[in-house]
Amino acid sequence: MYKTLARKYRPQVFEEVVGQEEIVETLKKAIRINRVTHAYLFSGPRGVGKTTIARIFAKALNCANGPIETPCNKCDSCIEITNGSSLDVLEIDGASNRGIDEIRNLRENVNLLPAKSRFKIYIIDEVHMLTNEAFNALLKTLEEPPDYIKFFFATTAPEKIPPTIISRCQRFNLKPLKREDVKKKLIEICEKENIKIEEKAIDEIYDFCEGSLRDAISLLEQLIIFSDEKVKYEDVRNLLGFPETKKIEEILKYILDKNYINCLETFHNLISDGKDPGLILESMTGKVKNVVEVRFGKESPVLEEKIIEEFKRIEIEKIFEGINYIIEFKDRIRRDREPLLMCEILLLKLCQLWGQEKRKIEEKEIKAETIFDIKFDESEEKKYKEFNWDEILKEIKKIKPTLEAALREGKFEKIEGNSIYVVFDRKFNFHKSMVEKHSSKIEKIIFDYTGKKYKIIPVLDENKKSIVENPEVKKIIEFFNGDILKVEE
Ligand SMILES: [Zn+2]
Repeated sequence: MYKTLARKYRPQVFEEVVGQEEIVETLKKAIRINRVTHAYLFSGPRGVGKTTIARIFAKALNCANGPIETPCNKCDSCIEITNGSSLDVLEIDGASNRGIDEIRNLRENVNLLPAKSRFKIYIIDEVHMLTNEAFNALLKTLEEPPDYIKFFFATTAPEKIPPTIISRCQRFNLKPLKREDVKKKLIEICEKENIKIEEKAIDEIYDFCEGSLRDAISLLEQLIIFSDEKVKYEDVRNLLGFPETKKIEEILKYILDKNYINCLETFHNLISDGKDPGLILESMTGKVKNVVEVRFGKESPVLEEKIIEEFKRIEIEKIFEGINYIIEFKDRIRRDREPLLMCEILLLKLCQLWGQEKRKIEEKEIKAETIFDIKFDESEEKKYKEFNWDEILKEIKKIKPTLEAALREGKFEKIEGNSIYVVFDRKFNFHKSMVEKHSSKIEKIIFDYTGKKYKIIPVLDENKKSIVENPEVKKIIEFFNGDILKVEE
């Protein structure tokens, strides 16, 4: 008989359980010192071992050699529990047996002694799905359970269980499994099954299954059927219906260029290739998340440099706002009858939010150019002149017109000592930072003109000056690549 991999490799003793060492040790100890209580609650995300642990626990208690930390898996009781045919270990799915009738049956059943085992054990999966009436009925049993009764509850949503029930259970919270743990298990299965697999493929399986070992093994099984000789990274992406990374980066680049038409075209090409709109949006979220991580200092080898650079110029709040749009739309297209139209609206919104005006892109190019292009003619004989701002601007214009243009957006305010203050309105913040960046060049031109060393200090509008110059505030502004919108007393 064909067994799925998940069944074939389901742990049969505590030692085989992956990644839940503390919980397993606590249960083994309870068996060892004979302190097994009558009700346990295992909570945690799907596929991390809740019912697996409950079954092993049941075996350990009912094993012919038991109660024992390591069940023999050979006696009738152990074998029946493995097969799901034990009369004394009853598995109930809370999702399909929600009503009071089932629980009333259970309550009547509870009064009957175990058929042939030490304990009568109820494993109730997804227990939070029970109705209130069912919970009330269950509570009565939990208040005065006979000695031979054990309840093992499993749930993905413990917050939906009444506190009166929870307080009568010993509770264990299972965490999502770690990457290393899942990888190790998958590699072990591949070795036993004689399957070759790329490590990158295993990582991708992990990323998709988010710490659920059961999901990871099921996915691996599909991949084995789907792939030729070796399971490759691209196989995983294909099987999951993900669009190519390259295409997603293309969409993002068009968004950043505010090029809605091309953005839409790339999107429609993906759709006609049979890609799922939801997965396209998910891939986009993943990419933008990487961008944010880079902002916070994480290295990302998976992103194109250009995209990272472009995103750096967007305020972090706007990036988060965009991510929220994508997540919201991803949710909406699942219910909406016109998912494509929804996606188009989303792309338009993102172009609006993240797209750079063409003017700004040109400015950026100019800015890049100015860094390299300024040349001074050192051989020229110098005749120094009196300080005159307008004349100095003309000098700057001769050498680098764009820098002069930037300075003209500001207003020469005053000279204090040897500091020249130029004030910029907030909307010319870009010009201000351009001046800041090239201040030493400007200072050199002024020196060549006047023969005196001046320092150029560009500042934002008067009432913001002191705030802007505060080093802490500067740090924050730099970090978020932001700007001060308003200063309040
Ligand atoms: Zn046994």
